[in-house]
Amino acid sequence: MEKELKNKNPDGETNVTLKEILSLMISGAPEDVKLVSTAYEFAKKAHEGQMRLSGEPYFVHLTGTAKNLAKMMQADAQTIAAGLLHDTIEDTLVTPEILQKEFGADILFLVQGVTKLAKIKYQGIERHAESLRKLFIATAKDVRVILIKLADRLHNVMTLEHIKPEKKKRIAAETIEIYAPIANRLGMGQIKGALEDAAFPYAYPKEYEETKKIRQIKNQEALEQLENIQKQLRKRFAKENLTKVTTDFRIKHDYSLYKKLQRNNMDLTKIYDIAALRIIVPTVEDCYRVLGIIHNTWRPLPDRLRDYIAVPKINGYQSIHTVIFTGDGGVVEVQIRTEKMHNEAEYGIASHLAYDESGKPDSGGLMGKKLRWLNQLIEWQKTVKGSKEFLENIQLDFFQDQIFVFTPKGDVIELPQASTAIDFAYAIHSDLGDHVAGAKINSKFMSLDTVLKNRDIVEIQSRENSKPTYKWLEYAKTSFARRKIKAALGEQEESKKKSQRG
Ligand code: MN
Repeated sequence: MEKELKNKNPDGETNVTLKEILSLMISGAPEDVKLVSTAYEFAKKAHEGQMRLSGEPYFVHLTGTAKNLAKMMQADAQTIAAGLLHDTIEDTLVTPEILQKEFGADILFLVQGVTKLAKIKYQGIERHAESLRKLFIATAKDVRVILIKLADRLHNVMTLEHIKPEKKKRIAAETIEIYAPIANRLGMGQIKGALEDAAFPYAYPKEYEETKKIRQIKNQEALEQLENIQKQLRKRFAKENLTKVTTDFRIKHDYSLYKKLQRNNMDLTKIYDIAALRIIVPTVEDCYRVLGIIHNTWRPLPDRLRDYIAVPKINGYQSIHTVIFTGDGGVVEVQIRTEKMHNEAEYGIASHLAYDESGKPDSGGLMGKKLRWLNQLIEWQKTVKGSKEFLENIQLDFFQDQIFVFTPKGDVIELPQASTAIDFAYAIHSDLGDHVAGAKINSKFMSLDTVLKNRDIVEIQSRENSKPTYKWLEYAKTSFARRKIKAALGEQEESKKKSQRG
């Protein structure tokens, strides 16, 4: 019976049953089960008779969204219920009043947070930019709003088949340029990978085919090497009395493999982590012990050890990565982390919510850091006027591939790729930016237009009488720095005019 219900629809989609959603939820508390069940039936009735372009019931989209929330983000019951209800206000006769009465103010807030803006008011890019602004503001109040939006987007992008070609490509590109980077910023590895992989074939068909071919050649070989290493490691762990160790393989997502190939001129021999061995242990001490065992058994590649436990990535990612020679001519990457770090990397911000009893995000710790990023984004968007400028700038400053550079004290500064010392100085403080006199990169004096690389250590020399010049506009890549430079140049022009007049 169950099997029949889950049968594939003609276009390859599966309808998700209530039972499946409930089985994916972390909580089995009776009130949570009741809430999600009620929302399921409510949404089914509200959307009755509505169809998707594929000819399936619209309800399929809502159960798909709920499934993504439960499975990829470990979302709580309220969020899953809101996921089921997320299109009721926009697409059915259900009013905010009814929703509040049936499900309460929190769920109403979540649904309204993802409901698009009135259709008449904005058109095209205008509308998209305004919707994004609204989404960010709602997310700052309750981060669960963005979880629903990402789950909604994932289902849409997984079912693009029946959409018109131009629209298909636009949705796919937008997913890669905006939504996946948001998931990444919030440390949600699973959904980020899923969004990119679902959008990849539509956004870049040729590159997708190319990547698939490369993977076919390489996957088998990589997996054989990993299995071999895994066997030997298990023996060593047993000898060392390390009993609570889990090992598995992780295969690099298609899109991130493509991005890495691109960064390495499509040279496959430079990619060591097409598949990686992942080792999960109970404590941080165990992580370093395992690293010791591995480096004692196999020779590590020089310069490939990354200790993201001691120095986490900006999005909170923690793990130790090392690359070793297998002894039979191959190299493999090994990733070592604790259970907690693993959950954090897979589910990100959502993994905290799952344990927070109030269901509201706390503001301390890692979670607070992630939300601070969001608040920065909101503060910053207030200063941008036009919608087009807004979209271009968020893509440039927030969602482009980032590099991480250090201050001499070891603080990490995150900048878009191709940034220079000028961008770095403005990112620290606009006053420092306005008085840059020179820059040392990795202890050497370098010209101000030098493009920074990942892990550079940058020291800015400043002088009170040093001022921005027109040349700086060419050097600066971030819109923040460019705006500040333009403002300073404007003031200089003004005072020049005044002194000429005076
Ligand atoms: Mn939707």
